[in-house]
Amino acid sequence: SPRVPTDLNALAEENLLLAYQALRSQSPDFDAQLVRDFDPHLGPVAVVASDLGRVLLNLCANALHAVRERQRELELVVVSTSGAPAEPHYVPTVTVRTRRRAGRTVEIRVCDNGPGMPDHIREKIFQPFFTTKPVGEGTGLGLSLCHDIVAKGHGGTLVVDTCEGQGTEFIITLTSA
Ligand code: ADP
Ligand code: MG
Repeated sequence: SPRVPTDLNALAEENLLLAYQALRSQSPDFDAQLVRDFDPHLGPVAVVASDLGRVLLNLCANALHAVRERQRELELVVVSTSGAPAEPHYVPTVTVRTRRRAGRTVEIRVCDNGPGMPDHIREKIFQPFFTTKPVGEGTGLGLSLCHDIVAKGHGGTLVVDTCEGQGTEFIITLTSA
């Protein structure tokens, strides 16, 4: 499909909301804070919007699942100890950032304060069909396809930065010709 100049702030917003609505309908008792940090000077970027939208949808869905998991873990800690909760004020948060960098490079970051990933999982997340979720809870397009869409489809990169107990950040970098 052709690449078309696209407002990536709008594409990110649209897919963040889609992922959020899906989570809220699946888990009405759970809520997450959404933070947008959009570069107002991002400008249009030539992308296959339907493909990149699916990447953003999966990254946002994964981030929301991660903060829901972290919340559940912390609730278990609270129930199993008599003292004060280890983290009395956890606010499950997903942040989407866009930035124009030097030259013709733009970045989209999807960041969460979920459980993070140990090395042995992080090493496998871009492999086809890898999941740690129960059957049926997978969120459609996997990270291996996301990686292909960004790398092969757009000549960009998709990398992850994660820290156990702190959270995870996925970074899409695109450079236009
Ligand atoms: P799925 O969402 O169906 O499990 P993905 O390819 O999107 O498949 O993700 C693969 C795995 O990577 C997940 O099952 C999870 O273990 C891990 N993962 C992805 N995103 C995150 C995240 N934001 N925080 C923690 N783990 C993540
Ligand atoms: Mg997923």
